[in-house]
Amino acid sequence: MVAQDAATILIVEDEVAQLETLRYNLEKEGFRVVTAEDGEEAVLVANEELPDLIVLDWMLPSVSGIDVCRRLKSAEPTADIPVIMLTARGEESDRVRGLETGADDYMVKPYGVGELIARIRARLRTTRPSAIGKTLAFEDISIDTEQHRVTRDDKPLKLGPTEYRLLTVFMERPKRVWSRDSLLDRVWGMDADVDLRTVDVHVGRLRKVLNSGGARDLIRTVRGAGYSLDSSD
Ligand code: CA
Repeated sequence: MVAQDAATILIVEDEVAQLETLRYNLEKEGFRVVTAEDGEEAVLVANEELPDLIVLDWMLPSVSGIDVCRRLKSAEPTADIPVIMLTARGEESDRVRGLETGADDYMVKPYGVGELIARIRARLRTTRPSAIGKTLAFEDISIDTEQHRVTRDDKPLKLGPTEYRLLTVFMERPKRVWSRDSLLDRVWGMDADVDLRTVDVHVGRLRKVLNSGGARDLIRTVRGAGYSLDSSD
């Protein structure tokens, strides 16, 4: 059973036995798992799924894990996705090279699955706290992501499912400016046939509920760029 807000993890590994072991263990932990067995496929799946984290093997046929990492980190939609690199080598220079390409963390094979899961959780705690059942808070707004309950100034708010998703995205990264395109991908999914104006409509609805008690508007419209959750003027 995968929870509705389960974090999606992309595993990139060409050795099928290792891939399946990882898949089994991560699914058991409640993660949603997508996989790729080579570098080209990894880049495709990463762009299609926008996973919350990528576990990336260094040694892959044709396109290496390092090149995959470099490509993902230099392209807008995937640049912020944390990457944990798996490497069979242990030389310090290689580790440094791995981190220089933008990998956020690395583990040397053979690694313990328990430790890998702990590191995945540690990353998600800052990048996708809602996926691990945490409470999100910004100013006087808070979301209990386990109960799906939203309050402002301790008073419960009633949000539709789309507004709830939108608010979660905003709350996970306060002050980040989200383009309407990236909100569309995050909230409706990459394949959704939804007009950009729909994003404006739902941001408007969210705003209305959040400000219903006469509270200050915390959603900032950034001309030509998008929206952010921001308490500064
Ligand atoms: Ca490999």
